[in-house]
Order: sequence, then C-alpha cells, then structure tokens
Amino acid sequence: MDGLLTVPVVNSYETVFNPSTGQPIARTPLCDATVVEQVIESAARALPKWAATPVVDRARIFFHYHSLLEKHFDELAALVTREHGKTLAESRAEVQRGLEMVEFACSIPSLITGTCLPNIATDVDAETVKHPVGVCVGITPYNFPNMVPLWMFPVAIVCGNTFILKPSEKVPLSAMRLGELLVEAGLPAGVFSVLHGGRECVEALLVHPKVAAISFVGSTPIAQKIYTTGTANGKRVQAAGGAKNHLIIMPDADMDLTVKALAASAYGCAGQRCMAGSVAVAVGSAGDPLIGSLVDFAGKMRVGPSDGNESVDMGPVIREEHRAKVASYLDVALTDGATVALDGRQFEQKGGFTIGPSVVDRVETSMRVYREEIFGPVLSVVRADDLDHALAIGTECEYGNGAAIFTQNGYAARQFKQHFNAGMIGINVGVPAPMAWFPFTGWNRSFFGDLHIQGMEGIQFYTRQKTTLTRWPKANDSHFDPVWKTKR
Ligand code: NAD
Repeated sequence: MDGLLTVPVVNSYETVFNPSTGQPIARTPLCDATVVEQVIESAARALPKWAATPVVDRARIFFHYHSLLEKHFDELAALVTREHGKTLAESRAEVQRGLEMVEFACSIPSLITGTCLPNIATDVDAETVKHPVGVCVGITPYNFPNMVPLWMFPVAIVCGNTFILKPSEKVPLSAMRLGELLVEAGLPAGVFSVLHGGRECVEALLVHPKVAAISFVGSTPIAQKIYTTGTANGKRVQAAGGAKNHLIIMPDADMDLTVKALAASAYGCAGQRCMAGSVAVAVGSAGDPLIGSLVDFAGKMRVGPSDGNESVDMGPVIREEHRAKVASYLDVALTDGATVALDGRQFEQKGGFTIGPSVVDRVETSMRVYREEIFGPVLSVVRADDLDHALAIGTECEYGNGAAIFTQNGYAARQFKQHFNAGMIGINVGVPAPMAWFPFTGWNRSFFGDLHIQGMEGIQFYTRQKTTLTRWPKANDSHFDPVWKTKR
C-alpha cells in the first residue's frame, strides 16, 4: 500500500458530478477502516527517513513541485471548474492562492530555525529546535478542491511530517492531480497519500494512535466534532468551520465601488466561500440606495454553466440538492417576514445546478436567513441605526470568520477594526482572506483549536519543540550542576 497511486478495493462509491452539466464524471471510492489502517501504516513507515531528510532537501522537492504547478496551471484551474462549478477566473485565482502556499513552504528552511542562548549558566548552552510531529491528516471541504489541500500538506511535509489527505468526496479529482504532480516532483512513496472516503473513513482517522495531528476545514458541526474527538484521542487539531460574514456599509461609502465589492463577496464562487459576505449591514441612510444599486447590479450578472465557458459571472452550485436548499431559504425568508428584493430563482436556468443571485431585505437577526449558513448566492440585508448598532449586531453572531466595512471615515474604520467580533477584517475590502504568509484567523465557532492554518502558525502547528541544555565539563568537574546551584 506504499505510494499514492495504489488503488484500494472498496465496496461503495460516491458519484462526482460536473455541476455545469449535471452529469456524472467520476466515482469516489469510500474507503473503510481497513484501508485507513493500511494508509496510516504506509505514512508511519515513511516517517523516520523523511523526518531525517535535511529540510533544504525537503523544500527543494517543493521548488520542483511549484514549477510543475505553474506548468499545469491552466489544466488545474479547468479541473477545479469541472468538478466544482466555479468560473474559470475564480479557479485560476484559487490555484494562484495554492501556489503561494507552496512558495511559503519553500521558505521553511529560513523559518524553522531554532533559538539558542550560549552560556545561559556557566558553561551551559541552551537551545530550542523544531521537530516534526509525525503522521498528519488533512480533511478538506468541497469548496476549494485545490487551494485548501495546499493550505496544509506543503507546510506539513517540508516541516518533516508525512501527510494523509482526505479530500471531500464531492471533489476528488483535484486532490488526485495534486498528488500525481507530487510524485512527479520526486516525493518518496508514503510521504503523501490521498485517502478517499466519508464519515467512516474520517472516524477511523480520528481515533488512530499513529495519527499525531489533524487539520480540518469544513462546516462548523463537523469541525467541532473533529476537534472534540481528535483532542480527546490525544491529537493536536486545528479545525476551521463555517461562517456568516458581515459587510457594514456606512452612509459615506462610495456606493458604486461598494456594490461591486459586495456582489463579488456575496456571489463569487456562487456564495460557496467561507469568506463570502452573507450579511450586509446598511447603516442609517445607506439602506435604500444600497438595495437599489445592488439589485440593479446583481440582476445583470450572467449566470450559467462555467465549464469551458469564460462568459459567465457566476457558475452553478455543487449539487442539485444544494441548489434546492439555497432556493428554499428564499421561502423561509418570506415566511419569517423579510422581503426578497431579488429572487435568484427567477434567473433563466441554462442547465446544470445554477441559481441566480438573491438579495433579501429587511432581515432581522432572529430570522433563519440571518442565523444559518446558507452557503449560496444569497445576501441578507439588515438595517442598523448607526455604527454602534452594527457592531452590536456582530457581537450576536455565533461565527467570526471575516467582516468588512465600507466607508471613507477613518474613525469608523478604526472602531470597526478594533471592536467587530470577527478574526479577519476588511476595510473597503470585501473578501479579507489572508494570503499564505498570514494566519487564517477565524474566531468564535468559525475555528476550533489554538494554532490557525497558514503563516507562522501553520509551521508551529506542524512542529513540536525540543529544548536542550548542553555542558561539556572539564574532566574533573563532571558532578558540578551549574543550573541548580546558586550563590543566593
Ligand atoms: P463538510 O463539513 O460537509 O465536509 C468537510 C469534510 O468533512 C469532508 O471531507 C467530508 O467528507 C467530511 N465529513 C462530512 N461529514 C462528516 C461526518 N459526519 N463525520 C466525519 N467527517 C465528515 O463541509 P463541505 O460542505 O464540504 O464544505 C463547506 C463548509 O466548509 C462550509 O461550512 C464552509 O464555510 C466551510 N469552509 C470553511 C473554511 C474556513 O477556512 N473556515 C474554508 C472553506 C470552507
């Protein structure tokens, strides 16, 4: 079972669809605990040699990997669109963000150095160095088939760990292609494996004694379960969950720029981003002009199948069931007393799992459209009296991924940055997603754990520290203990 390309024998499969056509394109094998055991054994066998490989040699493989990703850039982007449905432009942006993670991983030899204080006590030197943690697991969601795996394995592997990727069963193809290119880059067998499966497979990973660390990205209920079970079984866990991101529009905001930024945030990737704006908080007199311009702008968006088609602004969502679920929230909103100012169900259906952008006005924080993560192209608009009211609305939110303010007033922006209840803040930036060099700092129930994904926290997560005190005594001085002896 050593090596990425070994195909296990399994009894059940999940169908993979092309969301642009609605047609099946592949089957994901759903591995059981027996296959999980084999893959973990393979990763554990590869670990000692890989951990002992000099970090510069580990990084060098990722320099080669980077050039392969560049070479296959268009193919990788097209594959994301094919299995996920986002537009080709969005897929290219995703692959670019993933490439940047590899660039960060290539710099790990400079970032993983330890610290040393010579002569901390007489003739004693102290040093702390970073070691790998062991076999690491990554469990990833469907909405970034290329980028989210790349958030994890390049850093984990260059830090000296072996890695098992369990991608979403809805989008297995990008993960396989990323793995094939790793083999081509020269990564030894067993250092990286792709393990396909669903709940049964994940549950076996969570309790296995040879798994040291788990990185998870997905919905909040599953993130919480992964964190609770993983830590109860002695693993370090970072688990990023769902979101309900607020976009605050002050009365002095440049309305044209703001509407474009709001539409890009709420409807980009058909709303299937953990950093998508899903609640617009219109402050004071901003409400009516905002609704008018937004409905006008979003109503003209070109919605349709994205595979092989560059001329759409928004592609389909992942599955027919998901399209129906997103659509059902518009009825829920009406029943709860909100107003549907733009109904995405009225857009022409051009095949595939498409649904147009929606704007729901007069939303209250008690309503389901406000409280629940819809994960589709629906923007709820809440009216607030003033900035303090908008900040208070944020405090009620159970999630805390991203939030943005649109204003020309530095004081309002500063108040928002300081006091809004979320971990990633945009000032006139609609999707304030940190790039590879900065941690992805979700708050509240958008993140479970201590060390976030990306940036230096990623390196801390995938390493453990060892501190050594060294003394080379003179021949006749060997029983003298300079640390525990004091003149005081
Ligand atoms: P999901 O939680 O359904 O699935 C994520 C992973 O968990 C998949 O690999 C899946 O196979 C596995 N899984 C699903 N159910 C499981 C169960 N009962 N037990 C064990 N494992 C299980 O998420 P999704 O629908 O694939 O992705 C969308 C979600 O991911 C949204 O909530 C979105 O906000 C979130 N997300 C968060 C971030 C972030 O950085 N915070 C980034 C991207 C996506």
